[in-house]
Amino acid sequence: MKIHEYQAKQLLKQYGVPVPAGQVATNADEAREAARNIGRRVVIKGQVHSGGRGKAGAVKLANTPHEAEEVGKDLIGKTLFFAQANANLKVNRVLVEEAVDIAQEIYLGITQDRGRQRDVLIVSTKGGMDIEEVAHNNPADIAKLFIDPLLGLPDYAARQVLFDAKFDKAYINKAIPFLKALYAAYVGTDATLAEINPLVITKDGQIIAGDAKWDIDENALFRHPEFVQFQDSAEQDPIEAEAHRRGIQYVRLEGGDIGIIGNGAGLVMTTMDEVKRAGGKPADFLDIGGGAKAEAVTSSLQVVLSDPNVKGVLFNIFGGITRGDEVAKGIIEGTKSLDIKVPIVIRLAGTRAEEGAELLKTTDLVPAATMQEAAAKIVELAYAKK
Ligand code: GDP
Ligand code: MN
Repeated sequence: MKIHEYQAKQLLKQYGVPVPAGQVATNADEAREAARNIGRRVVIKGQVHSGGRGKAGAVKLANTPHEAEEVGKDLIGKTLFFAQANANLKVNRVLVEEAVDIAQEIYLGITQDRGRQRDVLIVSTKGGMDIEEVAHNNPADIAKLFIDPLLGLPDYAARQVLFDAKFDKAYINKAIPFLKALYAAYVGTDATLAEINPLVITKDGQIIAGDAKWDIDENALFRHPEFVQFQDSAEQDPIEAEAHRRGIQYVRLEGGDIGIIGNGAGLVMTTMDEVKRAGGKPADFLDIGGGAKAEAVTSSLQVVLSDPNVKGVLFNIFGGITRGDEVAKGIIEGTKSLDIKVPIVIRLAGTRAEEGAELLKTTDLVPAATMQEAAAKIVELAYAKK
């Protein structure tokens, strides 16, 4: 789960990580008042779930409360293109923050390295700009520390990674407690990504978090009831949000038009590959799960069809616990109640597949014997000129 910069900075503060004084504003008046409270030059930052806000025009400086009001008027409510998220996002609120006088921008990140089965702390003194570019063109400018979960982050390990990054020696002793507090926040909040870019060394020698990008492991939310308030449905894809409300495992895919429904994540992903191979573009990933009953099938179909780009739907069901006749009944019921205008191809295999196929014979639904045949059929039918 992504959270906003202002939310991440609240968490950081609780863990003793220095952050600039700031206030959230949802309109221009609030932006002006926030700037007045802060009492000096401020930076105003759009709160959206994307990085690269500077480049998108969502980070602005304001010298006076009046300027802050003007920036607020311009920015709040505006939809901007964020290349990093590859999406147009609406700025619903801004963070008005004491501007810091930057002497140096450092990149600092913690995330999981699955290959090493460790959390990895990443430091680069080439901060501020795209870290991906630095990693690609100048990998030697990036220092990494794979954190031993039993040792945590002792001073000597933090010192070593700062040293490896050629971090200014004058500030290493100040940076060590910063790194340790950041790691404590990462572990304590069950984060999967903690990115401070830039970590700012100010002209008067302070070290402070200029930005904070924070992802929390959704599987750990049960032990953080306090994070429920961080969920921002306005930032979510509306169809995904609806699917999750219904308890359906659904991911919408950019630019696709063939709806995919299957049971089991592996089967669904394979089905997506087969559709792609047959020349189609999958519109979603939907795992209907084990023992899918009629109701779940209907509900899933509604979700997939609520994407207006969908030109056809492919069901790929392997019956184990899930019974083919139950699924067939669900699909028949669902299609009856939904007034469906697109072709639907169904491949049933396993438990009670024959009984399911028998039920489908009385309908317009198109059966297929194998996954490959099903993929070819749905592509042909969905893209057929009418
Ligand atoms: P991002 O583009 O989404 O990563 O947003 P950031 O919060 O990192 O801001 C982008 C850039 O704006 C930073 O790299 C800084 O160069 C600049 N910036 C942000 N805050 C301040 C500030 O308080 N003072 C100054 N001078 N520049 C800032
Ligand atoms: Mn940043």
